[in-house]
Amino acid sequence: MKNVLITGASGFIGSHLCEKFIQEGFEVYGIDNLITGDINNLDKLKDSPSFHFKEDDITMDLDLKLNFDLILHFAGPASPDDFLRLSLETLKSNSLGTLKTLELAQCTGARYVFASTSEIYGDPLIHPQDESYWGNVNPIGRRSVYNEAKRFSEALSIAFHQKYNLDVRIPRIFNTYGPNMKVDDGRVIPNFIVQALKDESLTVYGNGSQTRSLCYINDLVEGIFKISSIDNIDGQVINLGNPEEHSIMDLARIIIKKTGSNSDIIHKSLPQDDPRRRCPDITRARNVLGWQPITMLDSGLEETIKFFRNKINE
Ligand code: UDP
Repeated sequence: MKNVLITGASGFIGSHLCEKFIQEGFEVYGIDNLITGDINNLDKLKDSPSFHFKEDDITMDLDLKLNFDLILHFAGPASPDDFLRLSLETLKSNSLGTLKTLELAQCTGARYVFASTSEIYGDPLIHPQDESYWGNVNPIGRRSVYNEAKRFSEALSIAFHQKYNLDVRIPRIFNTYGPNMKVDDGRVIPNFIVQALKDESLTVYGNGSQTRSLCYINDLVEGIFKISSIDNIDGQVINLGNPEEHSIMDLARIIIKKTGSNSDIIHKSLPQDDPRRRCPDITRARNVLGWQPITMLDSGLEETIKFFRNKINE
């Protein structure tokens, strides 16, 4: 395998994937329309002869005259804060965008990796969530533009696999954090760290008893690389995430302590359909990929705090 196309290349996960695939000796072709991505995330790759970037919208006709060996579809808004503002863009990147990139994979004979999500499980009624669970999703709620489009994209990817024998793989990505998230991203880790570094109140939504399980970006990228490289796992859906579960209130306290901040904690109303618990069962990833996260929350947060400290002082 040599040529990889990564959509959402300047986004949080996309930018780390571009770095990883270059390190692994690939020619990397990145696409992004920059509506939520940040071109500065690609600064490190500017001078790499193996990196090629195009500002383009994957929901329009893609004029790419290259044979790709691998396509990773990671484009699309991913912060719940963006779902209202960018509702149609969120729906389109994970429907039209998936269709167009799947067709491109079919034309060029590429392997296809679709970035799915733990949001497939909605507000889950079983715990932890394994891949056999169908989910508990509100089709018209605030998060539905994301959840339902991701669910449609899974169905579409599997249909291409069944009908055309396309080699598709579907990681279901649980909450991930790390450098290259935006200061105003809106998700919990950037919000809390930036608030703590500015000695502003940390905004806990609801009473903070809801839980999330947080995976450091380097671990996730290793998992995605394995899903992309291992043979004979086409058509598989695999959870990727860190099974260590924390309440949001605990997370706020940990971040205040780690940043040495004088911030207090205030409560804001809980957004509609906010999942109460989320934790991946990663048995399949362990068995099939030989993968599990190795970064402790403590050291992952340290790196992320360092990143945001620099960003804020820029
Ligand atoms: N959250 C919070 N304060 C914030 C941002 C998020 O309490 O400033 C909560 C949010 O309500 C949710 C959890 O943190 O319960 C994770 O939210 P995030 O937006 O990071 O991702 P989600 O897992 O909900 O998609």
